[in-house]
Amino acid sequence: MARIQKLSKQVANQISAGEVIERPASVVKELVENSVDSGADKIEVSISEGGKESVRVRDNGQGIASSEIELAFSRYATSKISSIDDIYSLTTLGFRGEALASIAAVSRMEIKSRQAAEDSGVRLEIEGGEVVSRERAGLPAGTEITVRDLFFNTPARYKYLKKTGTEASRISRLITSLTLARPEINFTLENQRGEVLSTPGSGNLEDNIYSLYGEEVYDDLIALNFSREFLQVSGYLVNPRQHRSSRQHEYFFVNGRPVKNRFLKMAVEEAYGTRLPAGKYPLVFLNIDLNPILVDVNIHPTKKEVKFSRGEAVKDILQQEIEQNLKKSTGYQEFSGAETGDYSVRDGYSARKDTSSQERDRARDRAQDKDKNSAGYDRQDLFAGRDVSQQQIESVSYQASDSRTNSEETLFRESSSPQKSDFSLPGDYQVLGQFHNLFILLETGEGLLLVDQHNAHERIIFDNLCAELEDKSNDSRLLLTPLPLELSPQEKEIIYDIKPELEEMGFSIEEFGPSSLMLAAVPVFLEEESGRENLLDIINQILEKARIIEKHELSEEILKYSACQQAVKEGASLSMAEMRKLSAELFQTSNPYRCPHHRPIVIRLSLDQLKKKVDR
Ligand code: ADP
Ligand code: MG
Repeated sequence: MARIQKLSKQVANQISAGEVIERPASVVKELVENSVDSGADKIEVSISEGGKESVRVRDNGQGIASSEIELAFSRYATSKISSIDDIYSLTTLGFRGEALASIAAVSRMEIKSRQAAEDSGVRLEIEGGEVVSRERAGLPAGTEITVRDLFFNTPARYKYLKKTGTEASRISRLITSLTLARPEINFTLENQRGEVLSTPGSGNLEDNIYSLYGEEVYDDLIALNFSREFLQVSGYLVNPRQHRSSRQHEYFFVNGRPVKNRFLKMAVEEAYGTRLPAGKYPLVFLNIDLNPILVDVNIHPTKKEVKFSRGEAVKDILQQEIEQNLKKSTGYQEFSGAETGDYSVRDGYSARKDTSSQERDRARDRAQDKDKNSAGYDRQDLFAGRDVSQQQIESVSYQASDSRTNSEETLFRESSSPQKSDFSLPGDYQVLGQFHNLFILLETGEGLLLVDQHNAHERIIFDNLCAELEDKSNDSRLLLTPLPLELSPQEKEIIYDIKPELEEMGFSIEEFGPSSLMLAAVPVFLEEESGRENLLDIINQILEKARIIEKHELSEEILKYSACQQAVKEGASLSMAEMRKLSAELFQTSNPYRCPHHRPIVIRLSLDQLKKKVDR
């Protein structure tokens, strides 16, 4: 055995750097948190090669005094606490005083900083923890730190880094959550190709959600604000019809810090409960403020997790409040809502936050304009092509068969409503006619069904498209004339990132000049129906969705969108034959009660309930 000796400062720092700095995203996290702590209201992050080549963070905060700059880079040097008790009244993100020392130990770093009160600032270069140059420099107030060649001197660590795209998306996820935590700060993230995301810094969480998640989520926000006992919560829930397949979009900010905590997660997931299909997670953006004395952020070196001293209580309160709020805003009447004579089901499930009604109207106008402009399909052709036998149309009677039992099971799983009996398929029914060019009325043994024509048609087309995609997977069809795509650098970046997935579906996208891309081929499932306008719409939809859903969900999302585009609209009048065909097809789909966007399709009015209304 070798003799015991004390490790050099450099080796010790390299070892402990491993705890805090695992990858480029950890560098970004630490630097940006420092910028936030410095009081900046503008923070610019720029990365190249997913941060493996370089990360630069610039802020307009208070800067570091030139006399203290070397100190900032030594371990356990911090301006944020001086005794252990300070941790319990902390208002800053940092406090351990090890980030800068750790990063400096495993990279080549340049730091430029000036405090507003000083005439000039300092520029310092550090390599592997050793200062290699120092000079005075005229600089703008604030701090700019550039970290190059991360892990250049610890190759074993470098080996664990992932592909550029993976590291880059970790960084953009991290920045996304920081921007949501601090809407008053104007954040930008850019890479070699240009801007990836930016937030306005207006101080409004809503604005940030809009700029990161787009209109669809924005329109479904449900404000949650309450103050109870030791807990104060503000932020937004999202209507459960929007959901994702990972927890990544459950955001919790405890005293302004993005955190994970199992009690918070449980509160939210249990409150949403069966409003979500199995395996899906909600989107929430919640600021939770509680007395710092109840929060221990020091249980994890990177402070990602926090511990509450009254975890159970926090969970109970939060869960109750969310449940109440969801009940109020989404009704959760499902199809049985109508049985109580409450006709507000449609409004109920689209209940949105109150403040956005104007915005909502504008969105609706936009959507209507879009309908008008979209290459108008021929109404006559609407139901052509998907054959339902004459027999099925005439004898609209319907017997539950094995395959239907299966689809019922899927149905239960997907909708997981507490009232399963409401989901049974109708037996014999008769089409009575159309109601307000919006619902198809079906008389059944038990009462009346109102079938939303658009949602129903959307479900039918979606199921057909899914079947087609399965058959012909990545077949593509060359466009006669390729379609040029005018994209911002940000949008181009998104397309590059998901190009393999797009190609797998059958899209072909080529470079066209220095700044444009061209759509050369599309998947066969988009065949006939897709005019150029519609294709552009689909590309726009992809761009809007790509950042906020998993890549593997993208094809489903495109099918959903395409189904929605093709489906008969509210306001279209239908012939009896069309209504019969649509109803017959609907009850053979995988889920006749929910459209692919999870909106209800059928409202049920039971005869019993109706009779009660007239005291019969
Ligand atoms: P901590 O954030 O835990 O205090 P760091 O190693 O991250 O430790 O930073 C050390 C110190 O350097 C901070 O306490 C702060 O005083 C100073 N500092 C670091 N980054 C900045 C910045 N962007 N602006 C102003 N001061 C900074
Ligand atoms: Mg710090």
